[in-house]
Amino acid sequence: MGELLSNTFITLLILSTGIHLWLARRHIKFISFNKNKVPDAFKKNISLKDHQKAADYAIAKSELGSKDKIVQSFVLILLTIGGLISTISHFFDGISLPLLKDIVIILSVMLITSLFDLPFNYYKIFRIDEKFGFNRMTKKLFFSDLFRQMILGLCLGLPILFIALWLLQSSGVYWWVYLWAVWSLFNLLILAIYPTWIAPFFNKFSALKDKSLKTKIIILLKKCGFKSQGLFVMDGSTRSNHGNAYFTGFGKNKRIVFFDTLLNRLNHNEIEAVLAHELGHFHHNHVKKRIAMMFLLSFIGLAVLAYLKNQLWFYQGLGITIPSDGSALLLFMLTGPTFIFFIRPIMAFYSRQNEFEADRYAKEHSSAKYLKNSLIKLYRDNASTLTPDPLYSAFYDSHPPALQRIAKL
Ligand SMILES: [Zn+2]
Repeated sequence: MGELLSNTFITLLILSTGIHLWLARRHIKFISFNKNKVPDAFKKNISLKDHQKAADYAIAKSELGSKDKIVQSFVLILLTIGGLISTISHFFDGISLPLLKDIVIILSVMLITSLFDLPFNYYKIFRIDEKFGFNRMTKKLFFSDLFRQMILGLCLGLPILFIALWLLQSSGVYWWVYLWAVWSLFNLLILAIYPTWIAPFFNKFSALKDKSLKTKIIILLKKCGFKSQGLFVMDGSTRSNHGNAYFTGFGKNKRIVFFDTLLNRLNHNEIEAVLAHELGHFHHNHVKKRIAMMFLLSFIGLAVLAYLKNQLWFYQGLGITIPSDGSALLLFMLTGPTFIFFIRPIMAFYSRQNEFEADRYAKEHSSAKYLKNSLIKLYRDNASTLTPDPLYSAFYDSHPPALQRIAKL
């Protein structure tokens, strides 16, 4: 059984990496092929120079993504079948408290995976984004962000890890049901405290001052029957030139947040249309549905883990010599995504349907024309490619391709 699991895991990992690399190659080829002609629908608003810049940007990101994927797969093999988790585990044999030992092992493995990620993030920001004029981040801010993320990760992650391992050890056969309940509550809590407690850790938020824009937005909110805890502007420009707007929070803590970069680029009508699109997501309960789906998936996942945890072949097949609660949790987190990589295109498809739904809502409650204008400006200013490879886009993209989206509006 162990050998079968090993072989299945390696096959799926090679398959998923192979598919990624193949799709990325197609994507790059397709973009290069369409690089010298702006699609007709955008001819009036996007210059050939901007179109080519978007093409080069997408290609650079795709090439980096492929290298990242290869390294990630390599690290995954090294940790599991390569025996690195077992080696790390032996290294900490001196720790006699099993729970503490498990925590130290899990933190070490997480540190290793993030060390391999680090150069890619760095390269993306300081080489690619820098070259295309999007980066506003200093190296100092990059490392201080990293530090803050680490502190935050430890403050939030350590307690939940501790609870998970404690439940695994001492709450009988139904540990996974309890853990599922705790995990679900934890996620809801994060969503609730994110806007007021977590986001300000990284960005500054100020109340929206522009009076005429505010009036316009309040009218739209009333029309859509939406209550929010305030309109905020975020200093997105301290990190990047990409513009965006989003909703955060949950229940009564809902906030509308505009990146300062977005407000600088769009006129009031266009901002209203973008907001109407976001309101569409809320109206159709996209966030709640996503949360419900996450709860369902984690329930199934934990049930599977509860079964696997008691099978010796689960550990042997994935390179663990001495089974432990911590290693079961680690293997599950590390290898799980490989076993379910085929659900990614389904999720992407679902997410694109949500975007169409939100666009339709914006069309009804604001204006299709202004939403179209704002999208074109955002495609141009964010250098998003207008011509992604159709297959690549179907597999990965959470938003529909520009041409499809504009055509539907
Ligand atoms: Zn959307």
